[in-house]
Amino acid sequence: MKNIAVIGSGTMGNGIAHVFAQNGYHVHLIDISQDSLDKGLATIGKNLDRMVAKEKISAEEKQATLNNISTYTSLAQGVSNSDLVVEAATENMEVKLGIFKELDTLCSANTLLATNTSSISITQIAAATNRPDKVIGMHFMNPVPIMKLVEIIRGYNTSDATTKAIMDLSVNLGKTPTEVNDYPGFVANRILMPMINEAIETLYNGVAGVHEIDTVMRLGMAHPMGPLQLADFIGLDVCLSILHVMYDGFKNPKYAPCPLLVNMVAAKKLGVKSGEGFYDYSVSRKAEKVSAQFV
Ligand code: NAD
Repeated sequence: MKNIAVIGSGTMGNGIAHVFAQNGYHVHLIDISQDSLDKGLATIGKNLDRMVAKEKISAEEKQATLNNISTYTSLAQGVSNSDLVVEAATENMEVKLGIFKELDTLCSANTLLATNTSSISITQIAAATNRPDKVIGMHFMNPVPIMKLVEIIRGYNTSDATTKAIMDLSVNLGKTPTEVNDYPGFVANRILMPMINEAIETLYNGVAGVHEIDTVMRLGMAHPMGPLQLADFIGLDVCLSILHVMYDGFKNPKYAPCPLLVNMVAAKKLGVKSGEGFYDYSVSRKAEKVSAQFV
């Protein structure tokens, strides 16, 4: 594989494009918004500058990486000649089904189609195409250039050949691919989100404060950040929507989102991106100050 199309140049798409381009692949980065493409390229440039400053890559490698990326607002032009398409557009079922339906007609019969979705069924996305054996989940973690894991999700019809090709490719990117099956939350979020939800429930029940809950999990369990800080980083709206997918998918009350989480999302306290969640980010993004709501 040499030519990779990445759809969506937001938080995840620009990171995915960065990693492929740095490893010598030709990347077509596609977004419906020119502004998103400009911002995505600027982010890649800044992240590469940081790597040069830390002497992880040379200035020449930075330039070679940027030279490997071209941008498109047209899906048809962007995916032409691609060996693999990695879709990282907005997490919305209609958007994803629409994109995969189009990809199936635009791409050659051999092109593999991957999605970076955090929670939508791979089997359902694959069913929008006539090549469900060639559709797979490639769930990168944020921030993509730094995080080692790629959760590789096999849909019901994903073939062994597709899985092997994507596992091998992930290794070539310097990542550690891990194969899982397609059930709500896959593995990463099925385990992470109940932990985050339980941390919120613990706060809601008045067992301990924000700082105390995060300190127990950081220092007691050696987690690099506490679950409430992590929820703020992921986005409380994203956590809520993944819990809904698991609650709906399993019909099991253990995945029911804590009412405090529901309230915070309704109040638009979404974490780092909105400036406040469990912590107040108006002064620093480092989760140093607990939100006034919880003091
Ligand atoms: P984002 O909102 O930062 O970016 C999404 C981009 O998709 C936007 O630039 C938007 O303009 C573009 N887009 C929307 N519709 C499009 C279309 N039809 N064609 C082309 N581009 C389109 O979102 P994100 O956080 O980067 O998430 C992208 C995907 O990655 C989602 O499926 C999400 O679940 C998944 N994901 C996110 C994270 C995370 O931490 N943010 C982690 C793992 C997986």
